[in-house]
Amino acid sequence: MSKRSKLGGLFSNGITFLKEHPQLWTTALVGVVIVLSFIFIAWRFASIAENAQKELVNVRVGSILDAFVLFAPDIIEDKNTLHERISSIKKQNPTIDSFVIYAEHGNGNWRVYLSDGGPLGGTVVTDVPIVFNLAKTDTGNAYTFETVKNNERYFITARAITDSFGKVTALAVTEQGVAESDKDIANNIRASFYILFVVLLVIMFLFFRHARIVDFATLYKKQLEIDEMKDSFISMASHELKSPLSVIRGYVEFLKDGVKDNMQRQEFLRRIDVSANELKQLVDDILDVSRIEMGRLKFSVDYVKSYDVLKEVYEMFENKAKDKGLVLLLAVEDAHKDVTLRLDRGRLKQVVINLVSNAVKYTMKGEVKISQKVLNGNVEISVRDTGIGMTSEEQKKLFGKFYRIEDDKSKGVSGTGLGLWITKYIVEQMNGKISVESIKGDGSRFVVIFPINKKQN
Ligand code: ADP
Repeated sequence: MSKRSKLGGLFSNGITFLKEHPQLWTTALVGVVIVLSFIFIAWRFASIAENAQKELVNVRVGSILDAFVLFAPDIIEDKNTLHERISSIKKQNPTIDSFVIYAEHGNGNWRVYLSDGGPLGGTVVTDVPIVFNLAKTDTGNAYTFETVKNNERYFITARAITDSFGKVTALAVTEQGVAESDKDIANNIRASFYILFVVLLVIMFLFFRHARIVDFATLYKKQLEIDEMKDSFISMASHELKSPLSVIRGYVEFLKDGVKDNMQRQEFLRRIDVSANELKQLVDDILDVSRIEMGRLKFSVDYVKSYDVLKEVYEMFENKAKDKGLVLLLAVEDAHKDVTLRLDRGRLKQVVINLVSNAVKYTMKGEVKISQKVLNGNVEISVRDTGIGMTSEEQKKLFGKFYRIEDDKSKGVSGTGLGLWITKYIVEQMNGKISVESIKGDGSRFVVIFPINKKQN
């Protein structure tokens, strides 16, 4: 086998396995939903926490600067006192990384007037941050701007220092980093993911355990159903064996006593023959079931004119139908008579016998019609009756093993519930399809379709 077809085989085995265990899909789906919901909630919390952190830091710094600029003009000339003040503010507020006073340098540029933790005194800022201009224009408020340095979030807050005429003399600018709190949030999220992973493993484990329990429960239910079916099969089979046997024994006794009337003797022999055939049918069905189950049902394929098979079956049932007061019809147009199929002749006959036998068995009055036509490269063989029919629920179970419809109408009719199961198997083994249409109380129509072998037709 090539690597590709091996992979293909593995893939299709996997698909079949998943189809047979739908609970695995549910488990996987629940897992995905849990993970996605957790990611969503974590993301929401992280952004809420980040925003709250930002608000907290900036509102705090804004108020500090608001207070600072009230007394700053009085000490702006006294660099020592000014430096003392900004150092002590910075010390008391660890989120402030740098505190710098900028003075205007002409052409919209600024230079460092005094610094604590920021760029050196005298440094000229050419690439002026936007908050500088905002603070300069709106002297009554502090402005904050978020930016990223070395992959870490931080904020710049600027507040104008004005003289007694309201003229801007300098800018107080602070930088506050939130790298520490961002790191904390990221660490917390990571830890939560580890916990989630463990929780997920536990959930999966419990789910699989549950899935196995469901499997066992289904298996147990199936086993019970099979047991029940087998029980009813055994009681049905023993009844089916007993009644023809008693008929045979009864007539044999009569014959042993000597029946003078030739006509009567012939009738007894005919009844013995009918019962012997019923017995043979039952034994054949049981043997077929065991052969099918062991995969030993043999097919010898040949070119077969299906119309001839239909005719033989029609002749087999002609008298039986007449005895029951039914009309048995074989309706095949001449143009559809010569078609040849490539399959096992004996098995095809077995299929048609089963359908016609059922139609006659389950029809109390009216007709049974066997027909054949060629349609879209297929041969369609149908057996239609005006019998007791069945509901759509019953049709769904019809081809199951041992299945028999149990109602008032079919009560007295003997059968094993194996015929249609065997029929379906045989039809499918010969590349055919079988289906049924039926209306309870009106009748049924069984259709078997086989593809026509192109070379021969
Ligand atoms: P059985 O030996 O019981 O006839 P089958 O497998 O051939 O077993 O059929 C299964 C059941 O399907 C029957 O017991 C009967 O209830 C129903 N059935 C089959 N053919 C017909 C039909 N033509 N009309 C009504 N019911 C049918």
